[in-house]
Amino acid sequence: MNSNEIYVLYGNQPVKMAKEILEAVKLADSIPKDAKIGIKPNLVVAKTPDSGATTHTELIEGVVQYLKEHGFDRIILLEGSWVGDSTQRAFKVCGYDRLTKEYGVPLFDTKHDTFVKRSYGGIDMEVCSKALEVDFLINMPVLKGHCQTSITCALKNMKGCITDREKRHFHSLGLHRPIAYLNKIRCADFVLVDGLCGDLDFEEGGNPVQMNRVIAGTDSVLIDSYAANLMGYTIDEIPYIGIAAKEGVGSCDLDNAEIIELNHDESKTTIQPTRRVKQLAGYAAPKDACSACYGNLIYALNRLEEKGCLYDLNGKIAIGQGYKGVQADGIGIGNCTLGFTHCVKGCPPKAVDIVNFLSKL
Ligand code: SF4
Repeated sequence: MNSNEIYVLYGNQPVKMAKEILEAVKLADSIPKDAKIGIKPNLVVAKTPDSGATTHTELIEGVVQYLKEHGFDRIILLEGSWVGDSTQRAFKVCGYDRLTKEYGVPLFDTKHDTFVKRSYGGIDMEVCSKALEVDFLINMPVLKGHCQTSITCALKNMKGCITDREKRHFHSLGLHRPIAYLNKIRCADFVLVDGLCGDLDFEEGGNPVQMNRVIAGTDSVLIDSYAANLMGYTIDEIPYIGIAAKEGVGSCDLDNAEIIELNHDESKTTIQPTRRVKQLAGYAAPKDACSACYGNLIYALNRLEEKGCLYDLNGKIAIGQGYKGVQADGIGIGNCTLGFTHCVKGCPPKAVDIVNFLSKL
């Protein structure tokens, strides 16, 4: 695949989705034949993936199945939970031990790995040896909010490849610069984003928003630029993206990116919304809304609340296939509401477009 391409696949069957999107991008053709492959999930805390914090086990399983079916056998998982939690506990809670047993894929806890000192831009870093040793690194972040950097996706997920001492050091430096520089030292060769149900605004989970999608690409900066827009942020609002682009890690030029949607989301929301998500959903009037569309709206409403303009909304926002062909005076989200006087076009529209449109209204 070309570096300016981003593939998106909607659905809610992770094993099948992982294999389908990897076939579409022909990942096996980009990996050297007897390469040692590292898969880097997000196991920041010991919480199950439905909390919105961690990478779905079944998505990893789909990737492992695909790689094995294409003759790759030297596969490892590498991850280190955040300071204060145990990777081994997260591994068990999320059911990753089953992957080890069934597929013979070992987990390397980066907290206990040896490290190599590397330097970039005047920052010395302790980078775990395994992350540098693997020939091909597949990054599998969760698309979710973050209390300090607003979003976390591909670039920030690489923070699991440094020592705990280095994680503390990163925080003392304000995160953005070191995150970008770490990716200059070791960036993923391929990114498969778990966008099934990431958290609204907190990396630790608790308010999952069903988004029902996976996103694939080779440029971590471009993936994060796209992810920022999906969650209602402009690229400028996430400083580490711009820094990484400036340092040559990748491109944040979404205008010249090719977004290839392999299907359309038609699945309905199945996750029980938390109180916080329900509160935001109170501004919407859904009728048969696809979960990807609805998830984007929830992220957009969260952003509008942060900006202090949510309470100015007059009337409820229409969203969903039940509004197809309806002519009405009001606000609608997505092409299904083209008959509304104010409509954010797209199928589904990105959260950043919803935020811009509603802010102007
Ligand atoms: S615009 Fe309609 S069909 Fe398209 S994602 Fe939204 S609800 Fe679904």
